[in-house]
Amino acid sequence: MKNKINIAILGGGISAAYLSKKLASSNNVDVHIFEKDNHLGGLLNSSIVENQIVDIGPFFFPFDVSILELFPGISDFFFPYTPYYTITTPKLSIDKFPLTIKQFVKDNGYHSLALIVLSIITGRLLYLSKSNSETYAKFWIGDYLYRKSGLKYYFERMFHFDANKMSKTFAKDRMGGLERGNPAVIVRKLKNRLNNKSKVKWHSIARKKDVLFQDIFNFIYQDLINNGVNVFLEHNIKSVNINENGKYTVCCMHNNYNNFDYIISSIPIPTFDDSGNLRFDLSDNKYVKLISLYFGAVPNFNFTSHYNHSFIGKWKRITDFTHIYGDSKEHILCVEYTSNYDEKININEMIEDFKSSVEKMNIFSGEIRYITHKLTHHPYPIVSCENELEAEKTRKLMDKKGIYHIGRHGDFRFLNVPPSLEQAENCFQAIMQKIQRT
Ligand SMILES: Cc1cc2nc3c(=O)[nH]c(=O)nc-3n(C[C@H](O)[C@H](O)[C@H](O)COP(=O)(O)OP(=O)(O)OC[C@H]3O[C@@H](n4cnc5c(N)ncnc54)[C@H](O)[C@@H]3O)c2cc1C
Repeated sequence: MKNKINIAILGGGISAAYLSKKLASSNNVDVHIFEKDNHLGGLLNSSIVENQIVDIGPFFFPFDVSILELFPGISDFFFPYTPYYTITTPKLSIDKFPLTIKQFVKDNGYHSLALIVLSIITGRLLYLSKSNSETYAKFWIGDYLYRKSGLKYYFERMFHFDANKMSKTFAKDRMGGLERGNPAVIVRKLKNRLNNKSKVKWHSIARKKDVLFQDIFNFIYQDLINNGVNVFLEHNIKSVNINENGKYTVCCMHNNYNNFDYIISSIPIPTFDDSGNLRFDLSDNKYVKLISLYFGAVPNFNFTSHYNHSFIGKWKRITDFTHIYGDSKEHILCVEYTSNYDEKININEMIEDFKSSVEKMNIFSGEIRYITHKLTHHPYPIVSCENELEAEKTRKLMDKKGIYHIGRHGDFRFLNVPPSLEQAENCFQAIMQKIQRT
């Protein structure tokens, strides 16, 4: 009988859970997951704030997300939900995300319509290269609308550097809606219509009120164990060594694990040391940190997520959990701030910044009460053009050494759950083909 193929998956987020179940259902394969935390789930992680279950941000997906097919039991943890996105504009009015021309013209006067048209025409000529986030946005909506609508600030609040140094891939992922006039997008929409997809009444699902993501991942954990996956929790990976016999060793804080035929990484992108081995502890400077502040307040209007496109306040987005899950007068909100990896985090400054900016925006009534906060490392991967090139080089080196890469980390194309799962599926197909060939 042939020896079993030994596969290690680094990290235990949703993309690793998906891929491990797919691999475990194939014959002659032994799958191992190494996760540094004491539970699976990664960025999908809930907390309880004053009896309300909240998240750092991610809690809803498209209704047809492929993980539901693979773990049918988890459907019970979700309910149909259509999110409602709004923004505060630079003129401090409320609009739909990312913006509407109607509100823009209301804010800026009818003459702005002529300036928009003129600026879109010149944008199509001047920014044909679409080489970074800024030129990408300016190509589609023109320089005038880009600057005046606050989109520039949306980009820069997230990453603290100029949008003209940000990768275009990032803007495409975040701002795909700007391409509405693109013939390729129109054709795709028409195709969807013909396939009857537009008849779906709701487009998203959200975790149910009383469910923590940890509950969902406990279920997934049990399912994986029942399917023979070896899950190693509290295993912080330090490096992966490539051995002379072509096999790999995974080195964790306290133990080493030998003889892997394949390595699939879903954790922050590594660097290579002088002997060509991968090291996983030097990559913090390629990420920003996320600080989720929780507040109690009474909003003046309904929203799921409200974005800050104004010139004031450094916060990026507010998610209103009570709007989704409850009906008490005071709502529990999650407010997102980001910080550079080497920046000192000052929570009091953030609280003050939030309170004073929303007071000027007049989006809440009465007192705004700070409750608590949560810090997440590595929520958003590198976005500068320079870092993207560097990451691309590293990924190519990993490919050459036979190490696969899946998930959100180190790749802008997979910032949300569905594309990450699609990529995990592609990785599964590639490995199966390789195994069948050998
Ligand atoms: C604020 C916010 C809001 C979002 N909202 C949505 C949303 O509404 N819908 C949506 O589809 N997506 C959303 N996303 C994106 C979504 O959360 C991610 O795309 C997805 O969770 C990424 O899964 P992953 O498996 O690729 O990575 P992760 O979840 O990051 O998993 C990586 C795992 O690797 C582990 N790890 C890291 N380093 C090591 C190490 N050295 N050793 C061992 N283990 C390690 C981590 O602990 C983690 O468990 C949001 C993200 C953020 C930050």
